[in-house]
Amino acid sequence: MGWRIKVLNYGEIKSNLSKLCNGMYAGIERQSPYLGFLLQKDGQNVLVDTGIHERFIVDGKAWGGNPAVGGTRYVLDALKQEGLEPKDIHMVLYTHLHNDHTGACEYFMDALNIFQKDEWLNLLNPLPSQQVRGDYDMQVIDTFRAMPRVCMVEGDVELANGLQLIKTPGHTLGSMSILVPTDDGPRIIVGDMFHNVLFFNPQLEELLTVDGEVIRIDPATAQPASHGPIIVHSLIYDHYAQYQSYYKLLARVPEMSGKYILCGHEPALVYYGVQ
Ligand SMILES: [Zn+2]
Repeated sequence: MGWRIKVLNYGEIKSNLSKLCNGMYAGIERQSPYLGFLLQKDGQNVLVDTGIHERFIVDGKAWGGNPAVGGTRYVLDALKQEGLEPKDIHMVLYTHLHNDHTGACEYFMDALNIFQKDEWLNLLNPLPSQQVRGDYDMQVIDTFRAMPRVCMVEGDVELANGLQLIKTPGHTLGSMSILVPTDDGPRIIVGDMFHNVLFFNPQLEELLTVDGEVIRIDPATAQPASHGPIIVHSLIYDHYAQYQSYYKLLARVPEMSGKYILCGHEPALVYYGVQ
């Protein structure tokens, strides 16, 4: 039996695609969820990412001044819907340590908490641009230091339980993807390496909302095919690393699609779950 994956919805933020994508995809605004994933096999509960902390939603606005809802309560509620409490989580994997992925980390003090060592270094030493944008929550440094079981990995690691950690920098210094072997083949949780499926499918003609509605993309506004297989947007800090990471994943799935690549803020996952 392989792993089962459940999508956890921790809230949402309104996002404007053209602002992120250098003016391309004009006119497309949609709600982007803050996602987590629950991985289950043989009585083990593994959580991937822990949402946004309420201190990063001020007057109903979060990153970039965008309207948002979320907070630790959303994480606890999402677990409760699965019949779980924080103490039932054995392991927490962090795709990266941005403030909308570490929100409820303080509730998992007794779990094995795993992230890349380079991501820890990025948290301790954010670039000036990352400081301006407030990407990291400096308060979680003490929380992680107080955890009795933190595991900082370096590079690609296969865990004893069969999950594969793949270092995929680009969005941050130590971003990590998680390859989950299921009975229906591999699925890779990529965090914010790709916020949504459009970011590695620039020629998509349709997007989905969290309610399953279809948004048509005017091809005239899309990134030209000559610009390559991934969208170069404002949330990538290291373009060279991002391409290397893309090619690393390309070889590990039957196709680069939303079926196999599970993004950290993909609306369709809220409506359809993992296919
Ligand atoms: Zn991020």
